[in-house]
Amino acid sequence: MADTPHNGAEDGDRARMGRLILALRSQGVTDPKVLNAIEATPRDLFVPELFKEQSFEDSALPIDCGQTISQPFIVGLMTQALKVEPRHRVLEIGTGSGYQAAILSKLARYVYSVERYRTLLTEAERRFKALDLQNIITRFGDGGEGWPEQAPFDRIMVTAAAPSEPRALLAQLKPGGILVAPVGRGAVQTLVRYIDDGEGAFRRETLGDVRFVPLVEGVAREL
Ligand code: SAH
Repeated sequence: MADTPHNGAEDGDRARMGRLILALRSQGVTDPKVLNAIEATPRDLFVPELFKEQSFEDSALPIDCGQTISQPFIVGLMTQALKVEPRHRVLEIGTGSGYQAAILSKLARYVYSVERYRTLLTEAERRFKALDLQNIITRFGDGGEGWPEQAPFDRIMVTAAAPSEPRALLAQLKPGGILVAPVGRGAVQTLVRYIDDGEGAFRRETLGDVRFVPLVEGVAREL
């Protein structure tokens, strides 16, 4: 590499990304496909200018409209728990910055993502275009209702806290499908994985405590 021009900032980013991947692995995110998808997604493009320096730290960061981009460890944990396969159609509720959707887009055939803030959706769509992620389909709407016209889905990921069991969304899963969601009304919620047993019932597994912004009913009028 001696004859390749060096860019100090890029070298720094690569080192920071390397450290982040090691940190995720040591916390149990070990699926190589998930780690590769995270490594291939430049998180700095999904955070506001003010927080760029912290892009590769394992922490949640503020985005527009009072929302947050999740902590990379939680993104890794939820993505790994979803067991996405290349032919899958995945529904994500809460596009936010678009970071989680971008990662899912590297693992699935199609990602359908719903957001209730128009500002966030427009920004996320701009990022998908810049990164040439052509298999993400977005919608402005209330994700609590899912996306009935596109259902059923192989996988569903909810990235805002559902106050109780997300029944409307579970109903949009294919037999054998998996849904991962933070569930609870308080500041701390339980991360739950629901696995459809193919006969209309669900196996429910808890994956730990998490802190998400709430799933809010209806679309935002402002912004
Ligand atoms: N997946 C996002 C995380 C965003 S935080 C990312 O990777 O950046 C949760 C997002 O869910 C917020 O953008 C919030 O506006 C959105 N949200 C909350 N309730 C919603 C609802 N009912 N329908 C759609 N989006 C919702």
